[in-house]
Amino acid sequence: MSHELRTPLTSILAFARILRGTDSLDDKTRSAVEEIEANATLLLNMVNNILTISKAEAHKNELVVEPVDFVDLVGFIKKSLEPVAKNKGIALTAKTAPDVPLSMADWEKLRRIVENLVDNAIKYTHVGGTVDVLVTFDGAAVVLAVADDGIGIEAADQEGIFERYQQAGQSPNRRYRGTGLGLAVVKELTELHGGTVSVVSARKHGSTFTVRIPYVPVDTEEYDEEDPAGR
Ligand code: ADP
Repeated sequence: MSHELRTPLTSILAFARILRGTDSLDDKTRSAVEEIEANATLLLNMVNNILTISKAEAHKNELVVEPVDFVDLVGFIKKSLEPVAKNKGIALTAKTAPDVPLSMADWEKLRRIVENLVDNAIKYTHVGGTVDVLVTFDGAAVVLAVADDGIGIEAADQEGIFERYQQAGQSPNRRYRGTGLGLAVVKELTELHGGTVSVVSARKHGSTFTVRIPYVPVDTEEYDEEDPAGR
C-alpha cells in the first residue's frame, strides 16, 4: 500500500516546489506553500520508512550500487530539508571534506539514512538551533555525521532508540511527533551497506549520529569518467 501513498505525496511535493519558485507570491501565500512543502516532505519520509521496515521484515531490502558523489548527495538532502529547517528557524549546514572519494553505494538508501538523521536532528532541536551534516573519509569508510545542539538523549536510552518503535525519555518527547521508525531504518540501511551507526549525546547538550559506510572503489573499467552511470 505504501507505493500508492507515495505517488500522490510526491505530486503534492513537486507542485509545492513549483509554486515556491514563483516570484509573484505574497508573504502569506509563500509561507503557506512552504508549510505544505515541509509537511509533505516529512510525510513522504514516514511513508518511505514504513515501506523500508515492511521490506526489512520480509528480507527484501537490496542494495542497488552506483558511484556515489557525496557532495551531490548532501547537497540534495540540504535542499530537500531546507524548508523543514526554515520552518523551525534552524540553521542547516552540509559540508563534504575535499578528500572524500566517489564510492560504490546505494544513492537512494544513503539519502534515506541521512534524511532520517537530519529530520530527527531538526525535530529534537529547539527553535533557533543548528544542525550540521559533515562527510569525511578515514581511508576505509566514508563517515557521515549529523550533529545538532538539541535536547540530547540520556545514556540509558541510547542503545534502545535504534530498535523499532523505541522512543527515548517518553515524557518530554511526547511533545515531538514521530513513528519511532526513523533510527531503525537508518540502522537497517546502514547495515545493508556493511556499515555501522553510533550516537554520542548528552541530555540537553545535543546529539551527534555517525554513520560509517565502507569505502568501495569505483571500477574504472566499468564506470569511466565520461559516462559515470556506466550506461
Ligand atoms: P521518532 O519517530 O520517535 O523520531 P526514531 O527512530 O527516529 O523515532 O528515533 C527514536 C528516538 O530517538 C526518538 O523518539 C527520540 O527520543 C530519540 N532521538 C532520535 N534522534 C534524536 C536527536 N537528534 N536528538 C534527540 N533525540 C533523538
